[in-house]
Amino acid sequence: MAFPSAWLDELLHKNDIVSVVSDYVELKPKGRKLWACCPLHGEKTPSFSVSPDKQLFYCFGCHAGGTVIQFVMDMERLTFYEAVQSLANRVGMELPNEINDREMQRQRAYKKRMIEANTEAARYFCKCFLDPEIGKDAQAYAAKRGLNSEIVTRFGIGYAPNTWDSLLKLLKGKGYSEKELVDAGLLVHNNDRNTVYDAFRGRLIFPILGVNGQVLGFGARVMGDEKPKYINTGDTPVYNKRNNLYGLYLHKNEKLDDLIMVEGYMDVIGLYKAGVKNAVASLGTALTQQQARLLKRYVEKVYIAYDGDAAGQNATVRGLDILKNEGLEVRVITFPDDLDPDEYVQIYGKEGFDRLKENALSLNAFKLEAMAKGYDLNDENGRERYAKAACAFVAGLQPIEQERYYKLIAKKTGYALEALQAQGLRSGGIQTGEGRGTVRGGFRRRIETDEDPRDITERTLVLACLHERKAVESVKNAGAEELFRNKVYRNMFKAICEQGSAFVLAKYIGELPDKDAEIASAVLREEDAIENAAETADDCIRKMQKENASDEIAELQARLNKSDLTAEERNAVLKEITDRIRANK
Ligand SMILES: [Zn+2]
Repeated sequence: MAFPSAWLDELLHKNDIVSVVSDYVELKPKGRKLWACCPLHGEKTPSFSVSPDKQLFYCFGCHAGGTVIQFVMDMERLTFYEAVQSLANRVGMELPNEINDREMQRQRAYKKRMIEANTEAARYFCKCFLDPEIGKDAQAYAAKRGLNSEIVTRFGIGYAPNTWDSLLKLLKGKGYSEKELVDAGLLVHNNDRNTVYDAFRGRLIFPILGVNGQVLGFGARVMGDEKPKYINTGDTPVYNKRNNLYGLYLHKNEKLDDLIMVEGYMDVIGLYKAGVKNAVASLGTALTQQQARLLKRYVEKVYIAYDGDAAGQNATVRGLDILKNEGLEVRVITFPDDLDPDEYVQIYGKEGFDRLKENALSLNAFKLEAMAKGYDLNDENGRERYAKAACAFVAGLQPIEQERYYKLIAKKTGYALEALQAQGLRSGGIQTGEGRGTVRGGFRRRIETDEDPRDITERTLVLACLHERKAVESVKNAGAEELFRNKVYRNMFKAICEQGSAFVLAKYIGELPDKDAEIASAVLREEDAIENAAETADDCIRKMQKENASDEIAELQARLNKSDLTAEERNAVLKEITDRIRANK
């Protein structure tokens, strides 16, 4: 949103840059400026300057600079809007859109209540954990999992006692209403009996903190074998898991080289304990664009370290694309023997993890690896089919990248490099008459020139469904399964619907007959090309509906041209054509 300029002037006037910066570092005057060691990058001699006259800062080391708003954005890793909000808070100014908007004020006050209730709850859970009686089992469990007192404190781990109303009583006693507590996700409302009770019972508690350290929600883990293993706070007025990353708040004021994306609480904590302190969790396997943007505020480079199982692998491929589209450099750490990150560091320690990190795969190498899992490489036949599919994939890459990946396929299959390159040319690349070395743009180019546009639309729809479950729903609702003309894509869509999150693209392709596999591998190659999956899906459906309708019209027109129609029949066909054309507008 835009702020009125008079209001912004007042904000800047009240937030003198010298006083704001002094909240973070001690400034020393020299000449017309004030100096300090730069709080934005590590240094020993001061190259960070503030000019009180101009109300600007500039660092001669890292070249950061700007107004006080920019400073807060850089320092606190905030967006422009959030930085303005924070500065307004600092001097007690109300945001312009809130001054006359009672509803907005009410919502803001309500959110504050939720956070306060969450904070009370977090304190209570910690107290229960530490209580020698109440927390006995939790302490024993934590000790068994290697969660020492430093870790417990650092992550605020607590325990929710196995009762139905202890939190309820406590928070109602502090003046919170049942509705507030249900809205915050701390109580559950039972519709049948119209009663409320504690949402977390007999579980180990992991508070979820937002980037500014506020308690937004909780994860609760069983200590035995019950199901579900975790209960998490759902969407509330203050928490949405799509916008948060667990553990990120620990790094608010740190300069990081990279971050490691893992799946769950215990992965973050396990790595932290082993000395790998820069892991954050997406809490749920599907990484979102909002989370990718959040990461981008902290680092340029992200390592993905998901579990080795099928769901983890699938999530990894999609996560890679989302991160890449946000301009982050992405690497994939793969764990041997289906271990998860927590288990791996328990066995091999930080040194082992660092080695894996050094050998992390690039996006394309990872896709080739994932693809290989769909084939039996101990079998001549399997090797051959993998080599064909993999070469088709590599042929679509930039020429300069191709060699490296052909080598990788050669190593995996034992085929000669020349044979693989020739295979790649056949399956994907175009040869433009002049002979060697003129493959450019590879497969994509071929698609652009002579592929049926309908196939492109149908493939795009499958891609959208792979990216987002929501897209699958809208395709189902539109009855789009019937709209597919290409059998390969229709079957793939059906498989995605049936298998849900267990669907592994590379494995699916591996099980197809050669000819179909070649068509289907185009999906693998373009997995990163989807931006807004739900919208894209709707677009594709509309296109496919239109195309199918024009097919039908063409058929009717052909019938009209037949001479053996009676006048009555002719009129009926004509009317149908006009109806169709109108409906298709
Ligand atoms: Zn600097």
